[in-house]
Amino acid sequence: MVRTGANHQDPTPQRSRILRLEEAARSLDPDAAERDRLLRAAHTYAQDFLDRLPETPAYNHDKSGALELRNLATGPGPRPMEQLIERIDESVVRAGLIPSHAGHLAYIPGGGIYASSLADYLAAVTNEYAGVRFAGPGAVEMEDLVLEWMARLVGFPETADGNLSSGGSIASLVAVVAAREAAGLLARDFHRAVVYASPHIHQCLHKALRVAGLGESVRRDVAVDEHRRLCPASLGDAIAADRARGLQPWLVLASAGTADTGAIDPLARIADIARREGLWYHVDAAYGGFFAMLPEFRPALSGMERADSIVLDPHKGMFLPYGTGAVLVRNRQALQDAHAYYAAYMQDTVEAEAGGRSPAAVSPELTKHFRGLRVWLPLLLHGEEPFRACLREKVELAKYFHREVAALGFVVGPEPELTVVTYRWVPESGDANAFNRALVEETHRDGRVFLSSTTIDGRFVLRMAALAFRTHLDTIDLALEVLRAGVRKLEAQSG
Ligand SMILES: *Cc1c(COP(=O)(O)O)cnc(C)c1O
Repeated sequence: MVRTGANHQDPTPQRSRILRLEEAARSLDPDAAERDRLLRAAHTYAQDFLDRLPETPAYNHDKSGALELRNLATGPGPRPMEQLIERIDESVVRAGLIPSHAGHLAYIPGGGIYASSLADYLAAVTNEYAGVRFAGPGAVEMEDLVLEWMARLVGFPETADGNLSSGGSIASLVAVVAAREAAGLLARDFHRAVVYASPHIHQCLHKALRVAGLGESVRRDVAVDEHRRLCPASLGDAIAADRARGLQPWLVLASAGTADTGAIDPLARIADIARREGLWYHVDAAYGGFFAMLPEFRPALSGMERADSIVLDPHKGMFLPYGTGAVLVRNRQALQDAHAYYAAYMQDTVEAEAGGRSPAAVSPELTKHFRGLRVWLPLLLHGEEPFRACLREKVELAKYFHREVAALGFVVGPEPELTVVTYRWVPESGDANAFNRALVEETHRDGRVFLSSTTIDGRFVLRMAALAFRTHLDTIDLALEVLRAGVRKLEAQSG
């Protein structure tokens, strides 16, 4: 420590220097009138965006607007809010896919409900600190409440723990690291540790394994049935064979809805095997997890409650804007063993841990966005019922589309378990794969709805995924019309 004597210099020049800096710095903290003006500009844009959304294409082929961002360099001085909003609109919002659009029927659609945007606004204005309970007891309590609600939803015990993450991928990483710690796996064991999953498990789990240092672990692709669900008998056989080889069966990954086709693995039978064999059982419910809100999905999702860890994606099945995933872990100690750290500069916060662990102790993040609010606010503002109705509506829409697209003459995949339908056109002559590739491109050029494709057993197949909260019956009818017109156009060209 340095103790300075009395300062004999006149402090006045220093004080006026500081005050000049303060004046410049204060423009970061606008007064009430300026705040009102800025908020109105943003609000006017948001209102207009939402009002014209139904007339806007869901997809814009031309992405040149994005490059215009580079012509607006940062500089020392300010720019008008209106100019910046215009740039955001042209370069960001209009380019490519519009994820908040009713016609987003590709991949696994996300959400963007309005209540969450206001929660984000309030979270950012108050800038609540959600990483440490001592600093943000209410923010952390709110995250705990939301996680407990999700735990009840999936049938986890009250002793389970969890974390709100930025998405399903990071949530999966948190789960994989907890599984590694629980098994006591050290680097020297990694090449013997075996991971079991169907070939349709989400790629983020392979990524999580590599990021967790387990890139050298042994992966077993377990056989699937004709609906692309993991085959439990093959899982049992693979584990036995690996034990006989002297390997260490460690982790089994199952899907409560694959991203590709929405297939739900037989979760209860996999739970039996995982428990019998002492494996960590992880269920990727990023897509399908929130369908547990619907009692009719209990049979299909039964067994999920016996997992060791579950990943859910509120920015899919709860229709929240991007940036919210969740992980739930049955063994709270494993989660903390993997993530809890101590720093002297934060010693004051430790005493408060008596009130419960901090989110920082169960995730890779320290400082984190106050995510709990964007989940909590819409749930309480609207109540659970509209969420349930919105999910059930999507299930019905998928079934409706499945029937109607078949009626148009498409060859369809199985009746959807969740809300993904696969289908393809088989032309009378010529390469069916090339035809269906051209058909997706044709729908992209059309742009009124946005559909995507996948490859199943070497066949190019189209997908329709209903999960965007604005997707309603008129959207599905429009998608059918776009497909019908696309086929007619392509057939005319080739015929
Ligand atoms: C979306 C998804 C993920 C990955 O989650 P992100 O939020 O995109 O990181 C993992 N698994 C499934 C089944 C998904 O649908």
